[in-house]
Amino acid sequence: MVSRRLLLGVLATGLAGSPLVALAEGDDHHAPAPRKPAAPRPRAPAAAAPAPAPVRSTVNEYPKPMQTEPEEVFVNPDEALGRLKHGNAIFARGGASMALPSWARINELAAGQKPFAIIVGCSDSRVPPELVFDCSLGELFVVRTAGSTVSREGLGSILYAVEHLGAPLVVVLGHTKCGAVGAAVDVATKHAHLHGALFDMALPILPAVLEAEESQPADLQDASIRRNAINIAERLKTADEAFSSRIAAGRLKVVSAVYSLQTGQVEFMG
Ligand SMILES: [Zn+2]
Repeated sequence: MVSRRLLLGVLATGLAGSPLVALAEGDDHHAPAPRKPAAPRPRAPAAAAPAPAPVRSTVNEYPKPMQTEPEEVFVNPDEALGRLKHGNAIFARGGASMALPSWARINELAAGQKPFAIIVGCSDSRVPPELVFDCSLGELFVVRTAGSTVSREGLGSILYAVEHLGAPLVVVLGHTKCGAVGAAVDVATKHAHLHGALFDMALPILPAVLEAEESQPADLQDASIRRNAINIAERLKTADEAFSSRIAAGRLKVVSAVYSLQTGQVEFMG
């Protein structure tokens, strides 16, 4: 049996800089709740596209990207959070616009990007951030690994989006039935053997499993998924001075959330 002491020892020596790999997620054995399908919306020919088409009318309320002022916050953290909640509400009721950008918009974005949020999400094929938040090209800066964990390279990616692109919001997004977290739960509770880099994938999730286990939850996998997202968000807040100073100034928020595969809804945990 792998003792808790051994697990914690491995974590203490091997957590920093662990490489992560994607994992094929397990099947969901629960049938999803039926959702009203969105009406098909064929893509218009590029030549006939009248103008850069925003996903929602509210997009027009935000200023155009300003490449000359890379440090400027063009949307404050609460506005960004509101846009994500609004977009997910549209997605969850089956009304996602799925609007494809016009060639004019694609060309406009070639000059520079100003994503309004950074999503730290899972590689799971069922949780693509642009879809579940009803967003389009150039709106979200996405870092994805199985289990929503953040490697050193991932941290650098987030830092780049905050410092150089001015993104005012980071959302660490876990999801129900996460196979990567499930693998970490199996390592901790069933002494499952993960070969090669799969163990490196599960390693950063193990502290959340051990922490969640202490409260003896009815559903350890679900509790671990939530604890993992919360812990990652908390660590990010102080992972770099660029984050903590912007948070103190009200220019950046870091929050955790869980997406439900069953309902399509994102629950923000703060
Ligand atoms: Zn997952």
